[in-house]
Amino acid sequence: MGNPTAFLRLNRESSLSERPPAGRVADWNDFHAGLDEQKLRDQASRCMDCGVPFCHNGAMLSGMATGCPLHNLIPEFNDLAYHGHWEKAYRRLARTNNFPEFTGHVCPAPCEGACTLGNRHSPQPTTIKNVEYSIIEKAWSEGWVLLRTPARRTGRTVAIVGSGPAGLAAADQLNALGHSVTVYERADRPGGLLLYGIPNMKLDKRHILHRRIAHLQKEGVTFVCNAHIGDAATGPGLAPSQLLATHDAVLLCTGATQPRDLAVPGRALGGVHFAIDYLTAATRALLDGTPGNPRLTAKDKDVVVIGGGDTGTDCVATALRQGCRKVCQIEIMPGPPASRQPGNPWPEWPKTLKTDYGQEEAIALQGADPRTYLTTVKALSGDAQNRVGGIHTIQVQWRKNDKGQPVPVEQPGTEKELPAQLVLLAMGFAGPEQNLPKALKLDTDPRGNIKADFARHATSLPKVFAAGDCRRGQSLVVWAIAEGRAAATAVDAYLNATAAK
Ligand SMILES: Cc1cc2nc3c(=O)[nH]c(=O)nc-3n(C[C@H](O)[C@H](O)[C@H](O)COP(=O)(O)OP(=O)(O)OC[C@H]3O[C@@H](n4cnc5c(N)ncnc54)[C@H](O)[C@@H]3O)c2cc1C
Ligand code: SF4
Repeated sequence: MGNPTAFLRLNRESSLSERPPAGRVADWNDFHAGLDEQKLRDQASRCMDCGVPFCHNGAMLSGMATGCPLHNLIPEFNDLAYHGHWEKAYRRLARTNNFPEFTGHVCPAPCEGACTLGNRHSPQPTTIKNVEYSIIEKAWSEGWVLLRTPARRTGRTVAIVGSGPAGLAAADQLNALGHSVTVYERADRPGGLLLYGIPNMKLDKRHILHRRIAHLQKEGVTFVCNAHIGDAATGPGLAPSQLLATHDAVLLCTGATQPRDLAVPGRALGGVHFAIDYLTAATRALLDGTPGNPRLTAKDKDVVVIGGGDTGTDCVATALRQGCRKVCQIEIMPGPPASRQPGNPWPEWPKTLKTDYGQEEAIALQGADPRTYLTTVKALSGDAQNRVGGIHTIQVQWRKNDKGQPVPVEQPGTEKELPAQLVLLAMGFAGPEQNLPKALKLDTDPRGNIKADFARHATSLPKVFAAGDCRRGQSLVVWAIAEGRAAATAVDAYLNATAAK
């Protein structure tokens, strides 16, 4: 523990790492600005090196992770960063996290929710995520991120389907163990939702994501893009049975990519899109060098985002950058409380109101938080060309039904119509697509996720493994990395066992 009294003298400072909202909406660059080194070391010094550091626990409490699912050695790297031992801090961080630059940008930081400094009336947890991000950026700029090219190859081959964080983490681990890894990705570029999902201003594609993928390629990982496994139309050799025949093990990391739909009159009107299609179009246009000309645009439109979660926030921030007339966000659930409630004690993840980067930007430009809670959609109305023009809403209250389950009850007299020429559906995801599990006849759970126990990752079919959102349902980047690492250990054990026979 570097400075035993720092947490008493110094306040948490987290917003220092972000550019001012009103200015940053004029570009697509990273909205993080970085901390200066002295301030960062001061922040790291607030870590109390607790006897029981809940921050790196990663256990499930009340259905959510408390602490870091990767079990990052947080008090240790905080202390090393405080003392300016950056290379050692990086080595400590790299033991548990393959891609700290991803989590350092996009992780909601369950570690900070579990920090002991958050266990008080006015919580001020250590700024762990900023420290993590600064350590890895320093490591890249100082040349400490070395290639993990294996000294010898085992001669065993692994096919990984899907190049999101789970697939990338598994590829990194298996390649370092000497196995020959090929990652098959149906999109035109690798990255999964790190690429076509999370927008560029939250995770820079060229500097952060491509840098890591190029590093993996140099280490020996092969990427095959435009390869839709299970879809014969995309080329020979890509049928699931052929993949099984040509590799010693197959790891499915295909994500939970089925978006939830909205069953209301007017859903089929033009201008109503899934959020993921809209976000993908914005990023693809940016990468193609035409950010002002995406396939779907919010320019000069009234935009309504249905869904108050992270995907909705990304849509708000994207629409503002595209020059929308106005953007608002509708959420059926009640607004979270400002502080922890008695049923949500520390070190559980705090279910409190957060104003994320997209909302901050809307407040700066439009003068108010774009979110409206306890509101649902009754219908969408269109014009003569069958394009959406308005959205009809009503307020709800949550009540228990006969079975004791909470249900939304519409409140008569609260109907409203909002102008909307672009409606974005950001209501979460309903599990993985079923074509590949069906083609391989894999067992699935009641939610349609591929059945495989965490840490074993073996599916019902020999030599086929599953990890990430396709196994656990739509989750977080940090969980996907944790799953990819655990699955790599399981695949390696399987390869070693079958090699010995
Ligand atoms: C808009 C959005 C924003 C998000 N923001 C955050 C955030 O800020 N922080 C956070 O922690 N989490 C965030 N998440 C969640 C996070 O991105 C996911 O939990 C994580 O990416 C899951 O990783 P994965 O590797 O399991 O799957 P994915 O990232 O979904 O990758 C799966 C890949 O498999 C490919 N694939 C699927 N089927 C096939 C097939 N048959 N053949 C070949 N390829 C196939 C897909 O094209 C995709 O590239 C966000 C999610 C969304 C949708
Ligand atoms: S990966 Fe996420 S939970 Fe783990 S230390 Fe980093 S910010 Fe915290």
